[in-house]
Amino acid sequence: MEAKVRVRFAPSPTGPLHMGGVRTALFNYLFAKKLGGDFLLRIEDTDQTRYVPGAEDYIIEALKWCGLVPDEGVGFGGEYGPYRQSERKAIYRQYADQLVESGHAYYAFDTPEELDNIRKEAEAQKEVFSYDLHTRNRLKNSLTLSAEEVQQKIAAGENWVIRFKMPENTDVPEKDLIRGEVKFNTNQLDDKVLFKADGMPTYHLANVVDDHLMKITHVIRGEEWLPSMPLHVLLYEALGWADNRPQFAHLPLILKPTGKGKLSKRDGDKMGFPVFPLLWKDPASGELSRGYREDGYFPEAFINLIALLGWNAGTEQEFFSMTELIESFSLDRVVKSGARFDPEKAKWFNRHYLQEKSDEELAQLFKPMLNDKNVQVEEAKLIRIIGMIKERCEFVSDLWEQGNYFFQAPESYDEKTVSKKWKAETPAMLSEIVELLKGQNNWNAVDVKEEFSNFMNAKGWGFGVILVPIRLALVGSSQGIDLFDIFELIGKEATISRIEKAIASIK
Ligand code: GLU
Repeated sequence: MEAKVRVRFAPSPTGPLHMGGVRTALFNYLFAKKLGGDFLLRIEDTDQTRYVPGAEDYIIEALKWCGLVPDEGVGFGGEYGPYRQSERKAIYRQYADQLVESGHAYYAFDTPEELDNIRKEAEAQKEVFSYDLHTRNRLKNSLTLSAEEVQQKIAAGENWVIRFKMPENTDVPEKDLIRGEVKFNTNQLDDKVLFKADGMPTYHLANVVDDHLMKITHVIRGEEWLPSMPLHVLLYEALGWADNRPQFAHLPLILKPTGKGKLSKRDGDKMGFPVFPLLWKDPASGELSRGYREDGYFPEAFINLIALLGWNAGTEQEFFSMTELIESFSLDRVVKSGARFDPEKAKWFNRHYLQEKSDEELAQLFKPMLNDKNVQVEEAKLIRIIGMIKERCEFVSDLWEQGNYFFQAPESYDEKTVSKKWKAETPAMLSEIVELLKGQNNWNAVDVKEEFSNFMNAKGWGFGVILVPIRLALVGSSQGIDLFDIFELIGKEATISRIEKAIASIK
């Protein structure tokens, strides 16, 4: 029987989640859901020096906002816990010991200062020092020291680490599910630290041990982890787990809008778009980084755009609900090359999902903003207004940009329009219009328009000369929806008073 698919998202809580991290979580989630498997959240916090307070909560909140709710993990429970590596500390030691006993790893006692000096000496010779099969026999470790010396040093409380003993000149071929066959030769790889005297494993050991113990079947992660794959493969072999180890898939980078280089927070700052799902306040510096949520993106738009960074369905389809993504997702259609991020496309997705929402739903989303501005408006009227302006909007906040004149009289008038369209005779003409409107009893767009047109025809006035000044009076600019709809929606009283105010104040 095939093992149940189990995948994990395994971020380190070193800061907010980048879009790339969200995409890793998403592809893991889609892969699991498509195959009826489990999606886990494991927090990899073994490197306490890089721990950032608040990052873990941020990750969990971001996943929830995106709708990527783990089946198991930190904050979600499960049978394979604890899911925070710092709480699993006691588990790893035995595996490090096992590797030393079987000759796959060794103790090393070189102090950071010693290694630093060696590194500098190498640099002076224009060489790069690496702790590996070429150098390990000259260094201070259990391969060069006697068993007694090793025991003495440990007993004396000297600082030590356990390093993986990379085998000599061995090809490690591995089939990556996205990249196909990837080959590494161990002569190019160094002896990574697996475990430290403080009792903490490093990322490599903890990651492999946990993936094994948590019965992970597929490791889907970013391309930056590809160089770690041969070590991980060798660790599974050394620990005797080669027969039921996970398969690997390394996702392509997300590239800057220019297509050159990895997308970074700086690109977002420079070009004015977020690279994080949620707003983040750096606990040390207090610096704020904007988030898609706070910038007004809908989670479904964000997920849709993230999904297409490096994956496509092989069809023309661009809009996908989560359910559709689950149905169509497969790792075969994830590309190897980097995926360029286009911030304009992100807006375009949001626009689409905004248009998909009902006017009622948008009214609910818009209300808090109206409350902040102390605007009172009847629900039914608000819904009608939204129906008329939403076509012009990408974000809920655009409803205010596009519709503020429904809720408040303009405070100023666009100067360009005034100088072009406000003529000497305009006030007198508008005064006559005001008189006409005052006599209007059926205040709806159709009836007012009919009366208005009859009046204009009788006067022999062209619409061109009068409609823009009225729009200026009602909206403050030459923008807005059909003028007679504005009449109806703001009501007779406001229409008349705004025109009167314009007559009095525009010179
Ligand atoms: N903790 C690693 C990270 O922060 C996880 C890499 C992996 O998925 O193996 O990305």
